[in-house]
Amino acid sequence: MIPVSEAVRIVLEKTAPLAPERVALARAHGRVLAEDVFAGTDLPPFDRAQMDGYAVRSEDVRQTPARLRIVGEAAAGRGWRGELKSGEAVRIMTGAPLPAGADSVEQVELTRETEDGAFVEINRASARGQFYVPRASEIRAGARVLAAGDDLNAARMAVLASFGYAEVKVARRPRVAVLATGTELVNVSERPGEDQIRDSNTYSIAAYAELAGAEVRRLPFAGDDAALLADEINKAAREADAVVLSGGVSMGRYDFTKAALQALGAEIFFERVNLRPGKPTVFARLANERRTLAFGLPGNPVSVSVTFNLFARAALRAMQGARVPALTEETAVLARAAKGAVERMSYLPAALTTDDAGRLLAEPLKWGGSSDFVAFANANALVIVPAGLKTVDAGSVVRVVRLPG
Ligand code: AMP
Ligand code: MG
Repeated sequence: MIPVSEAVRIVLEKTAPLAPERVALARAHGRVLAEDVFAGTDLPPFDRAQMDGYAVRSEDVRQTPARLRIVGEAAAGRGWRGELKSGEAVRIMTGAPLPAGADSVEQVELTRETEDGAFVEINRASARGQFYVPRASEIRAGARVLAAGDDLNAARMAVLASFGYAEVKVARRPRVAVLATGTELVNVSERPGEDQIRDSNTYSIAAYAELAGAEVRRLPFAGDDAALLADEINKAAREADAVVLSGGVSMGRYDFTKAALQALGAEIFFERVNLRPGKPTVFARLANERRTLAFGLPGNPVSVSVTFNLFARAALRAMQGARVPALTEETAVLARAAKGAVERMSYLPAALTTDDAGRLLAEPLKWGGSSDFVAFANANALVIVPAGLKTVDAGSVVRVVRLPG
């Protein structure tokens, strides 16, 4: 049995990056950038007014009230091309270029124009350099503004747009096939018969995979039939970069996932992780041309969510060249005592909040174990309890990982 950190390391080691592709900017959100991005222009590209008001020479308003002659107007997208001389002012709007000769903007609220619009009276002395943003003070042309491996979040979309990246090189989205095993499963639209339950795992796996940037296909159930399972995995792998299987990895008589993978000649890298919930997690690589990765996740719904996010998510993000593929650990103060396990490292569902002092608090949820997906739906993080600790007291500092979504 290997520790979680070792399992993550193996996953990252065995995962190959996908070739990048170019997409229209509007389709790049949520993708991983596959090129460095450089500023093609200074930002701002010109001295830019930050307020509506009057562009002035600050020396003209040292004494107040000052009375300046209005010689023109500068609006965003339509600057004033003259040069401001002593005793003059130009009406200016936010976003307009500061006229030559001006070194300050007076806020419109502190001024008064004469009725004929010929003069402006300024009632408060200004400081030089006030209320405009100097050219290149934010970014100088040529600077690297984003790097390959960055996640393209909403804010970064603006950066790409601003520097003219109408198309952008991003990692191809991994194709993921999701396959549930279990004779007891019925589809969401069906009413479970006696001894049956609705499949929920393919929906949570698909959702988490999409959050990790994947394109997902949900496959028909494979029951608990090794031959059928092998056949389905084999077919799915033609198109998929990863196959994620739920269930069938325990020690029961009908747990055929590993057997099916072996029958296909897959190389199994690990099959047990020192983890609660999620010990019997299987990680393998198929022998097909694509070298499709396979994750056999234990079928209990909470185990599925925990192991998917610890291992499969890391692989999907590594395929895309993400700089930080795995979940990152933070520390938080335990709001309530948590129960660990003597043998295994625990990842317990928890809700993260902050206290009045701004400290991150982790409140372990009351839950009925790895099958209790309804309780798990209230978790936004996992509290990590090292193996060997029976309980961790409230107030202890613990490591946590945030759950995506
Ligand atoms: P297994 O890993 O196949 O032994 O399954 C462990 C538990 O998870 C059993 O109680 C299964 O009924 C349940 N389970 C397996 N697959 C699913 C699924 N797709 N959706 C919901 N529960 C499942
Ligand atoms: Mg099963």
